[in-house]
Amino acid sequence: MKALVAVKRVVDYNVKVRVKADGSDVDIGNVKMSMNPFDEIAVEEAVRLKEAGKVSEIVAVSLGEKKCEETLRTALAMGADRAVHVETDAKLEPLAVAKLLKAVADKENPQILLLGKQAIDDDANQVAQMLAALLNAAQGTFASKVQIEGEEALVTREIDGGEETVALELPAVISADLRLNEPRFVKLPNIMAAKKKPLEKLSPADLAVDISPRLNTVKFAEPKARQAGVKVADVVELVEKLKNEAKVI
Ligand code: AMP
Repeated sequence: MKALVAVKRVVDYNVKVRVKADGSDVDIGNVKMSMNPFDEIAVEEAVRLKEAGKVSEIVAVSLGEKKCEETLRTALAMGADRAVHVETDAKLEPLAVAKLLKAVADKENPQILLLGKQAIDDDANQVAQMLAALLNAAQGTFASKVQIEGEEALVTREIDGGEETVALELPAVISADLRLNEPRFVKLPNIMAAKKKPLEKLSPADLAVDISPRLNTVKFAEPKARQAGVKVADVVELVEKLKNEAKVI
């Protein structure tokens, strides 16, 4: 059984991103970039499924600029067998990403497609759902547990007030939530070995996918600075301030 894992190169989660002075975009020149944290969890899950004998091959896919190769090498060091890089400098919207991943899936015929539940840069939370729709495949989003039983994937998802387990017919699209697993620490020998693993290059044109943007971003803005709080002596003072200063009661 083949697993396809989508990994996105994003600004590292520790970096505080600044908005460009003209509000046209965020400034990510010279900031640390890493694999999207939820995608690391997706790769880890694929590797665990392989270690459990459920998956025989893991193909990591990344779409974007040349440096996505680094992200793919990390996925290979974690345990993916080979990588596919769809190289483009164009800004990819979620629909274009889903169409490109579908085109790669059509070539590769994976039984399991693992993605992160959301990319921490655009916070879209759209690609897995769109990909499942384009492939006409079952979807298990926000997975906190994945089990493969014969021709089905049992996906446990956290919902309001509890957990839900859905049985998906394969092939299926699964998006990883934070609680699915804790990704392994990558060791140096694995980083070295990953350099020799195959990395295929494709372009959106090779896949005959139209990636032209459908959205027009109006502006980017920093969140409003929060005012410092004050300590109140007692409930009476709190109620007085809520009534007369904040005017919320
Ligand atoms: P999003 O819907 O944009 O929040 O992204 C959800 C998931 O789609 C991510 O966690 C990745 O697994 C996948 N994804 C999004 N963009 C890319 C990309 N450029 N390359 C590879 N995978 C991507």
